[in-house]
Amino acid sequence: MRNDIFPKTRFFSFAPLRGKGPAVYPIFLPFSGCPRRCLFCAQDLQTGYAAAPVRRHLGEAEGILEERLRRDLPALELAFFGGTFTALPPEDLRDCLDFAAYWRRQGAISGFRCSTRPDCLDHAVLADLKNAGCAMVEVGVQSFSERALRLCRRGYTSAQAETGCLLIKESGLPLGIQLMPGMPGLTPDAAQRDIASAISLEPACVRLYPCLVFAGSALAGLWQSGLYVPWDLYDCVAFLAKACLRFEHAGIAVARMGVAEGPGLREHVLAGPRHPSLGNMVRALALYHCLREKIREFKGRFPETPMRLFAPRRFQGEFWGYRKNLVPAYASLGLSRERVSWWERERFAITAL
Ligand code: SF4
Repeated sequence: MRNDIFPKTRFFSFAPLRGKGPAVYPIFLPFSGCPRRCLFCAQDLQTGYAAAPVRRHLGEAEGILEERLRRDLPALELAFFGGTFTALPPEDLRDCLDFAAYWRRQGAISGFRCSTRPDCLDHAVLADLKNAGCAMVEVGVQSFSERALRLCRRGYTSAQAETGCLLIKESGLPLGIQLMPGMPGLTPDAAQRDIASAISLEPACVRLYPCLVFAGSALAGLWQSGLYVPWDLYDCVAFLAKACLRFEHAGIAVARMGVAEGPGLREHVLAGPRHPSLGNMVRALALYHCLREKIREFKGRFPETPMRLFAPRRFQGEFWGYRKNLVPAYASLGLSRERVSWWERERFAITAL
């Protein structure tokens, strides 16, 4: 953006601040409703919850919601994750929807979201979700690549993945898409096409879970025999940073990158790009890419002018990268620490000194 009052200043935004929704309280239902076991999946190890009857999971959540009500804490958003929610046996699905409706009436939750597979959706179940106060349906698409879907034993085609997403949109419920960069059979080009396909479906948010090798999954055997090589952390961060920029430009929120670091996760991951600071690393690199472009534009216009960057304070923690690994990269753009100031505004500004 140009302005006539400060002719040698360029203002711009990165990752606009979005209104924060309620905190999410997940109820993990590992493998519940899943018609098959996917190659890479170890939901029980990933979430730290063993597969158990749905009512037992609801019973555990009940105690926590009661306690929150008693302490007058703000309403949460429930999330039914870890299985195929829309393919639960009818009585389990009814129990979950009744549970959500009850705690919504009590004021302990504002609503709920759920995750499912794209081939387990139809108008009737989506209408039930909507009537029960569902706030979002997240679809574990993982990929739109036929090869990757087949190799990972997902059991649906790319066209079915798209149809599932479109059904949610038609229902009027917000759509979330989950992708798994690096999954077996997915080439880097196909992973890029997955980003484009997801953007074209205009979801409200995406989650990007780079493929990890979990002990006990079928993928572990392939990895042990050398038939699967996961992405390394460096390539993964580079890919996710560019993907984030593409989603941000399309106005799509990236709700999560990488599996949540629950207790015990580390010991169950045999290989793959797992890192407790993955999200920060990715956001820092994405910001660097964005700034590099803006600084080049600025220098193209004012080649002889030394510059200073004013940056929103909320980026201060991650700006210089993980363990300051981006300091040399910024220095090569002419941006040393002395040339960066933090302010309370939401926009960045590059200005002549
Ligand atoms: S990846 Fe999803 S659909 Fe496949 S087994 Fe795991 S929870 Fe079930």
